[in-house]
Amino acid sequence: MLQIEIDHLNKHYGGFHALKDINIAIEQGSFVALVGPSGCGKSTLLRTLAGLEKTSSGDVRIAGESVVGKPPRERDVAMVFQSYALYPHMDVEHNMNYSMRLKRRPKDEISERTRVAAETLGLDGLLDRLPKALSGGQRQRVAMGRAIVRNPKVFLFDEPLSNLDAALRVHMRSEIRKLHERLKATSVYVTHDQVEAMTMADHVVVMRSGVIEQQGSPLDLYDRPTNKFVAGFIGSPAMNFLPAIAGNNGTIILDNDGANPLNLKRNVDAGRKLWVGMRPEHLFLSPGSSDIAIDAVVAGIESTGSMTFIVIELAAQPVIVAHSGRPESSKGDKIRLHISSSNIHLFDRETELSV
Ligand code: ATP
Repeated sequence: MLQIEIDHLNKHYGGFHALKDINIAIEQGSFVALVGPSGCGKSTLLRTLAGLEKTSSGDVRIAGESVVGKPPRERDVAMVFQSYALYPHMDVEHNMNYSMRLKRRPKDEISERTRVAAETLGLDGLLDRLPKALSGGQRQRVAMGRAIVRNPKVFLFDEPLSNLDAALRVHMRSEIRKLHERLKATSVYVTHDQVEAMTMADHVVVMRSGVIEQQGSPLDLYDRPTNKFVAGFIGSPAMNFLPAIAGNNGTIILDNDGANPLNLKRNVDAGRKLWVGMRPEHLFLSPGSSDIAIDAVVAGIESTGSMTFIVIELAAQPVIVAHSGRPESSKGDKIRLHISSSNIHLFDRETELSV
């Protein structure tokens, strides 16, 4: 069953068109990530779902009912903010059950729901603490607890982990995912971090300049990006792009490089200008089952300990190779790289759409 339907939604701020014809269908119980670079409109979209922003045109339905024009309190959604937005003078317990007290729910119900949420989040020993006496991760959990206590139809998360350090982010990422699996509530999660989106969500919506560039499962986006923007945005380190031109018989010739014609056997009109996309992790130092070999020169080596990033110069461009060992080559060496033709992406140079 669909829990949220966003239907031809547009949002204007004066003359600025912030959301352009947005269409998303969200299944009940699914975890959806809205991801994209700063200013792409993801927070505006989330705030529109919450009722904190008015829509300019189009419809938003929650559980089959249009919520356009309805104030936030009538939408049965709970939002978790990046800033946590906790009341500094209230202890954890009162922060968590504030909305229920406001609604004058029976005392027993309030204490039972608070107890369950605190237990779920491992906050039971901290109920009488003020926010200032909590760590960042604990504050974040209180903010989530406040949302859980309300038992909403939909959880909306606006970059909830941005203020945490790297290790805690990774930890909280899996906590939120586990919580989602337990509560099975529909969740919409805004992040600019594509790794966060890929690891947490069932459905990822990639946005740019107020437009949805592509949506689908994380692996769909990784395996079959529909354009160069999505291909470059999803995956870390980012996909390498090289300008090229289609030759005869499905061969692709990299610009400034006659030595490595790529025999991809794809049906592309000769003379068409292209971008060739290769993910760093798809380039190997040994052939394995790869059917394409590329000769290049090592321009630099960057080691992270577990991984080595070999920067090669190919067709007068730097190209990153992600190698999971410690290669013997060093700067200036000639090396041969291997890749499967099925892992080579092609995009039209003008439209940037996948070919
Ligand atoms: P970030 O990751 O930086 O938070 P975002 O993708 O969440 O970015 P939004 O905050 O949704 O981006 O903003 C989308 C665009 O709308 C931006 O260009 C922003 O400047 C503009 N915008 C947001 N709020 C307003 C407003 N109240 N008035 C005018 N323009 C606004």
